[in-house]
Amino acid sequence: MTTYNIVTIDGDGIGPEVCQSAVQVLREACGADLLRFTAHDGGATHYQKTGQVLPPDTYEACRTSHAMLHGAAGLPGVTYPDGTEVGNDLHLQLRFKLDLFANVRPIRLYKGVKSPLSDWKAGQIDYVIVRENTEGLYASRGAGVVLRNELATDSLVITRKGVERVAKFALDLSRQRNGAPRDGKKRMTVCDKANILRSYAFFRAVCQEVAQGYPDVEMDYAYADAITVHMLKKPDFYDVIVAENMFGDIISDLGAGTVGGLGIAASAELGLAHGLFQGAHGSAPDIAGQDLASPLATILSGALMLRWLGNRHGDAALTSAADRVEKAVEDMLEKGDAVPHDQGGTARCSEVTAAVCKRLR
Ligand code: ATP
Repeated sequence: MTTYNIVTIDGDGIGPEVCQSAVQVLREACGADLLRFTAHDGGATHYQKTGQVLPPDTYEACRTSHAMLHGAAGLPGVTYPDGTEVGNDLHLQLRFKLDLFANVRPIRLYKGVKSPLSDWKAGQIDYVIVRENTEGLYASRGAGVVLRNELATDSLVITRKGVERVAKFALDLSRQRNGAPRDGKKRMTVCDKANILRSYAFFRAVCQEVAQGYPDVEMDYAYADAITVHMLKKPDFYDVIVAENMFGDIISDLGAGTVGGLGIAASAELGLAHGLFQGAHGSAPDIAGQDLASPLATILSGALMLRWLGNRHGDAALTSAADRVEKAVEDMLEKGDAVPHDQGGTARCSEVTAAVCKRLR
């Protein structure tokens, strides 16, 4: 039996609570020997102590691991002289250095979770946002220009290679899924502002080219502003949405809001050789250290990690553990064993974790 080496980075704010919760659940699902967790430093708090947000030994451990599980990074007051937050550099550096080009963010309404969209039930909202993760507007992080204290610029970077691979990833993902809840059609929606900027028109054109090899996947196009309305009014229409980095960042928080909020929104950042898994939320300093955070986003990201590892290594023990973790969360929510604070309940992070573990047992 292979033992998979998982690097964990607790990070900042609620990061340690939710990361340790996910480790507990994954151990329960996989037994003692399948996964070997090794904790490493990183994040804004570590930067305050050492001046390093991603220490070299953490990076090396990440590079040589089977997968990375992360809590959250970033603290509002911990910034570089240019005003940008230090903590984000933990995952931004990992994204760029390990080429984690596809950020997969499932938007799925679970039974037992109340959506703020009153007309929709579990099963009717079930799509995935694939956010391009290494280019777009965030590619110029650290290289923007502020001139004479009068004007500021950052560059939007779109390359053929970057769009081709993320479009292919999204189309392949659509092929593996059951289509949009509305009509069962496999569909890729390209989210851009092709009507305004050349870079986005290029993004759309390259997506169109790649899609020609996928006649079984219907193509759909939406401007980034209009899609925010569509995601509220016809969420069942979507199967897979592919978007430039910043648009993907923004619309995935909106999508999360429609299915219970950031506390339940999972995320996987994938390249050809590496995978980083963390909830779609940040470090939520307002509720940190109080056992109030929902660990479900990180637990469900852990399930994505098990499935990704299982598919990659052809290991059915991992894919079946992924299914069991998702089922345990779903059953736990449906029966209301432990309803987290952000879902209107009173269960603490530790109680939600214990309830998921109990379901797994
Ligand atoms: P970032 O930009 O780093 O993603 P953010 O500014 O989007 O961070 P978050 O840290 O994600 O902010 O959190 C926004 C708010 O959502 C928090 O203040 C918190 O109230 C709530 N929140 C986020 N994650 C959770 C969670 N796991 N459980 C409960 N509430 C959460």
